[in-house]
Amino acid sequence: MRVLSKSKLLAFRQCPKRLWLEIHRPASRTDSVATQASFAVGHRVGDIARHLYDPSGKGNLIDPQAEGFEAAFVRSRDLLSSSQPIFEAGFAACGALAFADVMLPAKKAGKKLWRMVEVKSSTSVKDYHRDDTAIQAFVARNAGVPLLSVALAHIDSGWVYPGGEDYHGLLVETDLTEEAFDRETEVKTWIAEAQSIVRRRTEPKIATGRHCAQPYACGFLEHCESQEFQPEFPVKWLPNIQAKALKARIEVEGVTDMREVPNELLNERQRRVKSHTLANETYFDAQGAAADLAACALPAYFIDFETIQFAVPIWKATRPYQQIPFQFSAHRLARTGRLQHRSFLDLSGKDPSRAFAESLVAACGDKGPVFVYNASFETARIRELADRFPRLKKSLLAINERVVDLLSVAERHYYHPSQQGSWSIKKVLPAIVPQLRYDALEGVQDGGMAMEAYLEAISPETTQARKAQIEQELLAYCKLDTYAMVRIWQVFSGRSDLAL
Ligand code: SF4
Repeated sequence: MRVLSKSKLLAFRQCPKRLWLEIHRPASRTDSVATQASFAVGHRVGDIARHLYDPSGKGNLIDPQAEGFEAAFVRSRDLLSSSQPIFEAGFAACGALAFADVMLPAKKAGKKLWRMVEVKSSTSVKDYHRDDTAIQAFVARNAGVPLLSVALAHIDSGWVYPGGEDYHGLLVETDLTEEAFDRETEVKTWIAEAQSIVRRRTEPKIATGRHCAQPYACGFLEHCESQEFQPEFPVKWLPNIQAKALKARIEVEGVTDMREVPNELLNERQRRVKSHTLANETYFDAQGAAADLAACALPAYFIDFETIQFAVPIWKATRPYQQIPFQFSAHRLARTGRLQHRSFLDLSGKDPSRAFAESLVAACGDKGPVFVYNASFETARIRELADRFPRLKKSLLAINERVVDLLSVAERHYYHPSQQGSWSIKKVLPAIVPQLRYDALEGVQDGGMAMEAYLEAISPETTQARKAQIEQELLAYCKLDTYAMVRIWQVFSGRSDLAL
């Protein structure tokens, strides 16, 4: 019998086919950049947890990769006789194995016991965490570990970093002892079912669906989709599928092509997407778009932010996962049609917030519409900056008063079949102004890449030459975002008289 790790059992819980592929076709897996980044976040949170649970540094860390699994199990067992914390202690029992993030010595009625803590980088306890701790407790208890309790430690998103490497309060614990201990029979069943999946000679036949992204983005999606018939006009291009009847048609009846969805089940925007996609025609309500923008007289400003977030804050007075802007691009279009560009980019590695806020206030002037694309993002960042810097509060909030969302104008009045149900600027721009393309940019081409580039630029290991290259890529990318908005505004407002 193959001994299955906790991560394999959790893969089985997500999708039996995923488990089978992980064992028999591991090369078919391609983890997204976001998935890889989440591993790095997990490691960083794990490091902090070790300091928090073992401030004196007397604890022991097991490294199964370096020590080998068998040696790791033996050392874990030996360390149970010590009175110090153990990190990554490994146990195996009943066809499964698991490594516990944190084991803390405890006592009850004079008896030596252990408190087990699983550390997660999320900001709340999820259902799959409950499965995780149930497996963890099952394996440890069946391996003979005297467990007093099981808890899950996750990040407190409301905590504010006081600086000075003081991370007390970053993690909060939720006790899951009772439910973890109560689920032994369930865990036994999972192990038995997972074992039988692994023994199969052929892949289980399971169709792709919502489970492929929950709770984790599955790295086998490309592999699985390549085995399936791909509809010519996928229903996933229909925007914002919320209505129960439509959901049932797709999820229960398995409809995959929008031609099979009756119009009565669609709202107005979905119907528009369907009819213009099938007819391969552009929808453009030029009058409606111009009317929406008629009140927005020049001069106008077009702004866009790039942000970074850290699960473990590195700058004083910031919260876990807070979106912190490090760059903006601003185009100003004067009444004369003159277009000027300003930008801000801080790659020093220090908190860019105050300088960002001051530069933004200076760049946005004091009158005229401020166009953004998807206003909720930029306005939320401006409000956060206003809260942090009271001296700038009035000026920052005054910018929000002038914000006009170009995305909502696009959603109401424009659709091109190449958008495939999305109104992101990356989809709308090439449809409206085909000569402007994000994929023609060197290096950074989207927000995720901008975050990665930022992290690389502030890393002490990055050379000055590489940092300079990243700086140019980021500046070019963010500038294109706001120039794209200028050109989209021009088409929507019917200002073909301006040479932009
Ligand atoms: S892509 Fe979906 S169907 Fe395929 S293995 Fe992963 S979760 Fe299962």
